[in-house]
Amino acid sequence: MSERAFEGLYEDTPRIRPLSPESAQQLAEEADRHLAHLERTLPEREVSLSAALRKNGISRREFLKWSAFMAATLGLPPSFDTRIARAAELSVRLPIIWQELQSCTGNSEALLRNSNPSVDTLILELLSIEYAEVLMAAAGYQAEEVLEQAIQRYKGQYIAVFEGSVPLGLEGRYLTIGPHGTTGVEIVKKIAKNALAVINAGTCAAYGGIPMAAPNPTSALGVQDFLRKERIRVPVINLPGCPVNSVNIVGTILEYVLFGRIPQLDAYNRPLWAYGQRIHDKCERRGHFDAGEFVEGWSDLKGLKEGYCLYKVGCKGPFTFNNCGVVRFNQGTSWPVQVGRGCIGCSEPGFWDRLTPFEAPVAYRVYQPPILNDATADRLGRWALGLAGVGIVAHAAMTALKAFLERKEEVTKSQEPPKGE
Ligand code: SF4
Ligand code: SF4
Repeated sequence: MSERAFEGLYEDTPRIRPLSPESAQQLAEEADRHLAHLERTLPEREVSLSAALRKNGISRREFLKWSAFMAATLGLPPSFDTRIARAAELSVRLPIIWQELQSCTGNSEALLRNSNPSVDTLILELLSIEYAEVLMAAAGYQAEEVLEQAIQRYKGQYIAVFEGSVPLGLEGRYLTIGPHGTTGVEIVKKIAKNALAVINAGTCAAYGGIPMAAPNPTSALGVQDFLRKERIRVPVINLPGCPVNSVNIVGTILEYVLFGRIPQLDAYNRPLWAYGQRIHDKCERRGHFDAGEFVEGWSDLKGLKEGYCLYKVGCKGPFTFNNCGVVRFNQGTSWPVQVGRGCIGCSEPGFWDRLTPFEAPVAYRVYQPPILNDATADRLGRWALGLAGVGIVAHAAMTALKAFLERKEEVTKSQEPPKGE
């Protein structure tokens, strides 16, 4: 497959690790070693990705095209396309326990209920999910037994995926799971303690999300904060989003299968390849923002038709780190800003409290950057973002002032008596 065919993708994708030929070679050798190790050690399964691809009419060529796209998304060289394909085949043998907590199950539903599955949704369907309430046929005592067996059989080898927050109120009894009334608190502890790594799928698991919004009636906590509180030491990867994009889940799993380690993370434990850039930095409406061309309100038909910037109708793209504009949703068809709905900042901590109202610009009130409690480089970056908010206000104010002065000049001119009178 020629690199040229994917030039567009490479231009659009965050390159978090520009690689010299030597380091690309080293990375390739590292991946080959780990893939060979997993091929020998992962449990065999009756199902295979190749068979599922054939059954769903996805050709080898399309599969390799997808692999090249995933390589680009992960910031890897084009030569990794065949390794990604190998990793995808292997990923469906990786033991995974997927536990629902205080959530709407929106992430599972969005990822799996797809009438026309793409490669990533097929991988998610086939993943060796040892226990997932939304998917499995077992219920009650039988389901509890399945969970217990999976934990014992794959102790220290499985990935735990959590969806939803952990409610601590009423001694955890806001959420009980199974016929014995086991609390969510107990279940998270048991699963996380024995896991190889934890992936928090969606904003509720990552930071508490909507259940944790003020007044937080169930005393909900994101899984990462809960594990810290309980001093459970396990690598945690946060994949926020409401819902999380399937590309980000599959990419994270592929990266583990390729290299046997978790990806580079930001201060909120989000993979940099997916959350390293602001929505605003990759937005197709950015040119209009820079030119001061905004949709002024939902009745501004001209602005809407022209595809102007949605900042003044509440877009939180300048404050939000995610790759929605690059990977998009529904097999790369579209994303909210493309269809005329501003970003609501769903992948940011506390978005429901800090970034509402969704229809009004953040800069119309004080934006509080999360700083001074843990001044890491990323948080300082966010503080700079707070300043960017000020800059945006200034930008919007200057645009408005310029327009006002131009209008005033026009009115004054129209009121001046014609020359010669
Ligand atoms: S404010 Fe929103 S719509 Fe405007 S350029 Fe930024 S991300 Fe795009
Ligand atoms: S565009 Fe913004 S609100 Fe929409 S999914 Fe992406 S991060 Fe969340």
